[in-house]
Amino acid sequence: MQVGVAGLGKMGAAIAARLMDVGHQVTVWNRSADKTKALAAAGAKVAATPAEVAKQCEAVITILADANAIDAVYNGPSGLLSGNPAGKLFIEMSTVLPATATALAAKARAKGAALVECPVGGSTGPAKQGQLLGLMGAEPADAARAKPLLDQLCRRLEHCGPVGTGSAMKLAINLPLMVAWQAYGEAFAICRDVGFSPKRLLDLFVDTNGANPALKNRAQMIVTMFEGGDPGPTTFSISNACKDLRVMLDAAKAKGVELPTIERSLACFEEARQHGLADADGSALSVYWAKRKAP
Ligand code: NAP
Repeated sequence: MQVGVAGLGKMGAAIAARLMDVGHQVTVWNRSADKTKALAAAGAKVAATPAEVAKQCEAVITILADANAIDAVYNGPSGLLSGNPAGKLFIEMSTVLPATATALAAKARAKGAALVECPVGGSTGPAKQGQLLGLMGAEPADAARAKPLLDQLCRRLEHCGPVGTGSAMKLAINLPLMVAWQAYGEAFAICRDVGFSPKRLLDLFVDTNGANPALKNRAQMIVTMFEGGDPGPTTFSISNACKDLRVMLDAAKAKGVELPTIERSLACFEEARQHGLADADGSALSVYWAKRKAP
């Protein structure tokens, strides 16, 4: 199948690589052209604009930074919806407000195209291996059309309901994960006088009921950060975490729900972001807080 990927950030690039691995003809575009190079070298076609991706492909996947990026890539002058996208299938996988997804789906529908939202749980490793958790929001016929492709990207595909429900569920599953990075930082801070080495500390923590899979997966990265070494590539950045937390607060406000833990977590992530950790992995927050001296 001719599949397009418009937006080759960490997740978009991993998803494009997975689609090529399972045998699709993949056409890619990214705002910063340098990110197309590795995929082009592996055999992907490179399009000059999102509109060209839509023209060349039956289905187009996007997973972008935020609502502004979605607006630029879909509704810009050379955007995915700028030509004649009638009959095309768009699968939008970014983490955004439910209202962003529903407004986009309406725009696509008005042009005769179908749009399925499918934000995902899991990072670049699961994306490369087709092991994401897909939270699909779509009309039943569109969901059936998107399912074969999404099954190749996801270990579990949950059809939550119409467009908007997938985004609502994605914000919900991310919430405890975001709070956890701050919680580990606070936990490490209150036991720092015990004097465990980072390796021994993480070894103990991953053997407790409070350890989530993300902590287990990143234990070595965290040890390396404690020791001042290079933890390797970021999979989910602190900037992205700040964006997700803000979107959670906006979503909750629209529903009249209070999120006091998220309000505080956002302030903590923001502080780390302003201390030079914008592009660091989310788990760097735990190390930042563990070492932080109270003002
Ligand atoms: P990322 O590496 O920062 O990539 C962001 C992408 O958005 C890049 O392709 C970037 O283009 C593009 N972009 C940003 N602003 C744009 C604009 N105005 N116009 C056009 N393109 C624009 O982010 P990511 O980690 O892949 O995350 C992407 C989405 O997936 C986010 O919504 C995130 O919350 C969600 N998500 C991430 C993970 C994860 O583990 N990383 C897991 C699940 C869900 P440039 O390269 O030109 O900047």
